[in-house]
Amino acid sequence: MPNKDGLLKLRTKDVISGDSPVPTPHPTKPDMVPRAWSAENLVQINKRFENKHPRNLLRWGLDVFGDDLVLATSFGPQSIVLMHLLAQLRQDATIFYIDTDLLFPETYALRDELASRLGMQFTRVHSGLSVEQQGAEYGPKLWTRNPDQCCFMRKVKPLNSYLATKQAWITGIRRQQSSTRVNARMVEWDYRNKLVKLNPLVLWKREEVWDYLRHHDLPYNPLHDKNYLSIGCSPCTSPVLNGADERSGRWAGLEKNECGININVDPTSVHIKDLQI
Ligand code: SF4
Repeated sequence: MPNKDGLLKLRTKDVISGDSPVPTPHPTKPDMVPRAWSAENLVQINKRFENKHPRNLLRWGLDVFGDDLVLATSFGPQSIVLMHLLAQLRQDATIFYIDTDLLFPETYALRDELASRLGMQFTRVHSGLSVEQQGAEYGPKLWTRNPDQCCFMRKVKPLNSYLATKQAWITGIRRQQSSTRVNARMVEWDYRNKLVKLNPLVLWKREEVWDYLRHHDLPYNPLHDKNYLSIGCSPCTSPVLNGADERSGRWAGLEKNECGININVDPTSVHIKDLQI
């Protein structure tokens, strides 16, 4: 039965570790980009959705990929918009988050509030490595000495394992968020994980996201009201100074501003050039 928001309960799965259809990608995750997702095909698909509401891309993704399409959430404003849209299209869509064990208490509380408010439960993806085990093996507070290694073990590796069985994933990245995201497209081939990546909000401005949350009276992380614009693990997240990049509060003081899960590098470079739109 729909709940008071008109949404239906989503299917749960725990893990440790619209338009015309197009051919599905090769199921065996080849090293090369499958023919169905060639540069030319992706340009056409991006053009089809560039002036449409994000729900059109989500609907298309569900039609094409079915159960093998998953939404990633860090419980940030973007992913709350996406889970709200997705829930209206398919009640049993899969939404997952990477639990590093180092998220803010406010983030865990928001997860539970969203689950209760929207009738959702989320797939928890975990490295299998506790903070204590990591400390014993690599020394305490690895994030202060080698955040790349810490992110790799706690985020990137579990994500890679989880996505290995999927055909497409959805993220909430937007071009406006940082200089590392200005070339993101609505539909991409994820070279690292070898699957299709949908970024339905890639063209949205920050204000559009917040307008959506307010319009639908959706909950959000209270840390945003304290100038935390982008929220990840508590040891690596700080408030943002006025006028700075939205993600400048992540790993503040270091060159790093991506954990690695949204860096998409085409080893051939041919496709990056071809896919600029
Ligand atoms: S964001 Fe910080 S604490 Fe979290 S996995 Fe990366 S380095 Fe570790």
